[in-house]
Amino acid sequence: MLFPANYHTHTTRCHHAVGDDRDYVEAAIRAGYRILGFSDHVPFPFASGYVSGMRMHVDELPGYLASLKGLREEYADRLKIHIGFEAEYFPRYLDHLRRMQDMGVEYYILGQHWMDSEEDHPSSADACREDDGVLRYAEGVVRAMETGLYSYVCHPDILMRFRREEDFTPACEEATDMICEAAIRLNIPLEYNLLGLRDRLDGHGRGYPSPAFWAHASRHPIPVIIGVDAHDPARLLDEDTKAFAEKDLSGLGFRITRLLPMDEET
Ligand SMILES: [Zn+2]
Ligand SMILES: [Zn+2]
Repeated sequence: MLFPANYHTHTTRCHHAVGDDRDYVEAAIRAGYRILGFSDHVPFPFASGYVSGMRMHVDELPGYLASLKGLREEYADRLKIHIGFEAEYFPRYLDHLRRMQDMGVEYYILGQHWMDSEEDHPSSADACREDDGVLRYAEGVVRAMETGLYSYVCHPDILMRFRREEDFTPACEEATDMICEAAIRLNIPLEYNLLGLRDRLDGHGRGYPSPAFWAHASRHPIPVIIGVDAHDPARLLDEDTKAFAEKDLSGLGFRITRLLPMDEET
């Protein structure tokens, strides 16, 4: 099945992806996409001097923007390319994200991998081992959504990263309800993540997409978007995960959002 757009695509600048920027563009065209959004892990100018091992460094930003702007021009007749980032919501660095919008960053998607700044807080996955952490994670995600800065929420079910499916507790239900209610109120899609799905189908799941999460979420008429979360160009061509996701989501009665508002006219 042909998907018109994928907005969740990384580059090697995050230090855990493979392939040239151009390889992602070529793979997207081969897969039949009309729109490809790049959303590498955003750089943050950490005040403490902390250096993250899972995201672009600040000095790699100009190269990222220049490369993608060049590809956007070169491939203009074949693919619409958007320049974005997957970004956490770290309140103390929100202005930094806003400033990058003036440099040509068109959109952000929320990937709340850390509870607050990565410098001094545990990962969301670790915090969510405890019920209390699950609720604090959901509060942070809702506050992020309320900023209006994020176009969608990546893998909202990262709260299940280190939990077994049977450990989808009442706190997990409450967290899911909080995020879903915000998604409806603010009309922000939640992402069904194909990176996690591929891992699950390969027998080494990472907790998301969580069947328990999505079954519970299906009580709410939320917008859902499918994100490849490509860290390898080949994943854009992985038709099995797309078909599986499509079937899973339609079986649960979800309405699938294909395009973000910036593309609704195309
Ligand atoms: Zn990543
Ligand atoms: Zn990602």
